[in-house]
Order: sequence, then structure tokens, then C-alpha cells
Amino acid sequence: MEYQSRELLIQYGVPVPEAEVADSPEAASAIQARLGGMVVVKAQVLAGGRGKAGGVRIARTPEEAATVAGRILGLEIGGQRVRKVLVTRAVKSVKEYYLSVLVDRNAKGIEAVFSDKGGITIEEAAAGHPGRIRHVGIDPFLGPDGTSFLAGIDAGELGPEIARSLLEITRSLFRLCVEKDCSLVELNPLSLVEGGKLVALDAKIVVDDNGLPMHPELLAFRNPDEYGGDEIEAREAGLSYVGLDGNIGCMVNGAGLSMATMDLIKYYGAAPANFLDIGGSSNPEKVVKAFSILLGKPGVKAILINIFGGITRCDDVANGILKAKSMIEIGVPIVIRLIGTNDVKAKEILQGAGIEAYNDLGEAIKRVVAYVA
Ligand code: GDP
Ligand code: MN
Repeated sequence: MEYQSRELLIQYGVPVPEAEVADSPEAASAIQARLGGMVVVKAQVLAGGRGKAGGVRIARTPEEAATVAGRILGLEIGGQRVRKVLVTRAVKSVKEYYLSVLVDRNAKGIEAVFSDKGGITIEEAAAGHPGRIRHVGIDPFLGPDGTSFLAGIDAGELGPEIARSLLEITRSLFRLCVEKDCSLVELNPLSLVEGGKLVALDAKIVVDDNGLPMHPELLAFRNPDEYGGDEIEAREAGLSYVGLDGNIGCMVNGAGLSMATMDLIKYYGAAPANFLDIGGSSNPEKVVKAFSILLGKPGVKAILINIFGGITRCDDVANGILKAKSMIEIGVPIVIRLIGTNDVKAKEILQGAGIEAYNDLGEAIKRVVAYVA
């Protein structure tokens, strides 16, 4: 969340306004009293567009801070309930920039993105004036090269002082990005204040989960609210799972096949409710767990099981599914596609139990899409 991102920015020497976190109107009012003058009260949720959603408001007195904090703490933004607000000293902004450092997979390196049209309308700026969004490659071993960075962002138009600060902040973001294994470190807005100083008014940092074992200090930032109940349950069960917004629950053996299955569901006009790789196992407990997670997810209207039998035997999986079905009430249609080792036997087992089974993936997906259409 923003208040946590700020801690990292401070560690890396990026200027941010003074601020404190509150979880009640009273606490927000006390912070305003301490900071004095105008403050900005900001919803802390893992979603962008908080400003547009009414989650960023000005307050000038302790009473006003309590009132706006109370209003913001009642909001739901991007599907998340606001439980904390950040109360920051308001900054008088002359201009808003956008600056980020991210992993650029195509370039197999790091990239800085800069725009002099930052702020809450950056998306429109990107669509309407793509030329105003500058991309500059950064050597992942050497960091930003001053000359090419400044040329890349057209620093001539900004003046030497702002250009120098931008380079310095980009170097900090680069170090943060590499040292903490981030995939994105984004400042929007990075505000120019009177006197020519740059201050980061909002920060979004995305950490690569695969880097977390090396960064216990980042693990402490984990927000339980960040994950849906389905994701927490899946993690506890040792399932490789990601919750999504669609209505077709997916159970697939193999991560690559899972990705391909989700792509095909989209291709045929529907949307997957999740990514789930149940692995090579036909262990009925795992299948039951997977069913219960999918069935507990609001909006799931049908379930697609896609199994490619290599070492996994399709008949084992079929038996696992029947066992799971006898253990748990499944109120939505299930469509199964199995192919590979012992698939003929598997189909017999499933059809004997009145479950539709297909060999052809396209057919299976068209069938399940028809259920949710
Ligand atoms: P977002 O909408 O989720 O990106 O939330 P932000 O933290 O970026 O806040 C939304 C907008 O509020 C920013 O883009 C700024 O334009 C404005 N804003 C937030 N804090 C301040 C501040 O201290 N001073 C000024 N002038 N504007 C602010
Ligand atoms: Mn922002």
C-alpha cells in the first residue's frame, strides 16, 4: 500500500511529504493537529484511481480531518474496503510528473518511463499524446546513464535543476527496483513544488513474489486484505492459484496448460474465475479442496476441468473427481476434458456417472462457455 511504499522511498532517499497512518477519524484528526495546516487524507487500498473514487480529500482543521477520514473509511474502492487512511501534509504542486522504473521483459532489462503530463489523467495522456510518454532503457548492471536518460526524457525542456533531480530520483528508484526485486516502482504524481524541488505524492510498488524469500522485510508488508478468501484458502492448501473475475472455475494440471485454458476461454468469449494448477496429482483430497474453493467463490457458474494425462493417469483423475463429487455438493455444471494416458477408461468412468467428458479442448470450452452465456 501507499504508506508502505513510502517507507521504501524514504529508505532510498526519495523525497515524500510528512505523513502518518490512521485507522479512525479520531486518529486522523490528531495527525492533522500535529502536522498543522492543510493535509490530504488518502484511502489506503491496493487500487489505483483513489482520487477519482473520492478516496483523496483535503482537510484544514482537526474536525474536517475527522469528517473526511470518516467518509473515506466507509468507502469501498476497487472492490476493497478502506480500513486505513494516510494523512499527509498537503503540498503545493506547480506541475505533476509521472516517473517509473520497471522491468521491461521485451528489452530484457530495466526501463524508465517519464511524462510531464503526470497526475490522475496519465491514462488519457498516454492515449491522447503517446509522444509525451518517454521510455528510456536502463542497463540493469550499470543503472541509469545520465546522458542517455536526459536525452530520452527530453530534459532540455525541463531546465537543468529539475533534470538533475529527476536523474537522481530515477537512480534511487532503479536501486530500489533492483535491490528489492520489484517489477514496478511508480511515482504518480511526482510533483514539482515552488522552489523547484520534486516530491513524490503517490507511490505504487509491485514486488516480484518470487523475490520474497530473499526479502523477509518485504514479507512483513503483506496485507491479508490483498488476497481474496479463495486465495488464502488455496495457499494454505498448497495449491498454485490466482483468483480472477470471470465465472468459469478452472481446474487444470500444469501451469502452462492452465494459462492456455484461460486464453481459450477468453477466445470463446467468456472469462475464467481463476488460475489453478492442481499439479500432476489425482489425489481426491486436492480435487475436493479445489472444488470447494471454486464453489465458494461468488459468481462461479460452471467448472471446467482440463487434464492432460502424461504421467498422470486420466482414470485416476476421473476416480478422484467422482470421489470428490460424492464428498461435496456441486451445484453447477462441470465440463471435463481429458486426454492422454488411459483417457478412454476415464471417459467411461465419468460418463457412467453422468458427467460430460471431452477429448477435444475446443469442444469442451465451447460447452462450458455455453453454460455461462
Ligand atoms: P490515486 O488517484 O490513487 O493515484 O491517488 P494519488 O495519491 O495520486 O492522489 C490523487 C491526486 O490527488 C494526485 O494525482 C494529486 O493530483 C492530488 N494530490 C494528492 N496529494 C496532494 C498534495 O499534497 N498536493 C496537491 N496539490 N495535490 C495532491
Ligand atoms: Mn496517483
